[in-house]
Amino acid sequence: MFITAYNPAKVSAEVKKLYDDPYVKNRRGIFEYILGGSTDTKLLDVRVFDEATKKSVYTSQTKKANAKNESNCPHCAIGHDANRSKIWKLSEMDADHVTTWIKSGATDVKNCQMLCKTHNCAKGSR
Ligand SMILES: [Zn+2]
Repeated sequence: MFITAYNPAKVSAEVKKLYDDPYVKNRRGIFEYILGGSTDTKLLDVRVFDEATKKSVYTSQTKKANAKNESNCPHCAIGHDANRSKIWKLSEMDADHVTTWIKSGATDVKNCQMLCKTHNCAKGSR
């Protein structure tokens, strides 16, 4: 077994940084996130996309999907079940970060894609 030594000053600086980050919605997850090696961003429940961004991405994705007669969830569209051509409602979808927040992809529309809730959860738990 290999045990990582924590530098308390570094940890507290990182905690502070995340506390001040408006995108971090789950502050209770901050310690777990840092002690786990700062990789599992799901613990922080990061939400970088506002409603306007989601809506505009949703609209263009749905338009393309309708033209191709396939699902507006890109993951459903490549699947083999009935959802393959399903057009999800905006409320049934969630924004996914193409580039993760930690690599500071943040609020760019190009960095956002909408996935149905099932696929968004599946991706997040990886
Ligand atoms: Zn899907």
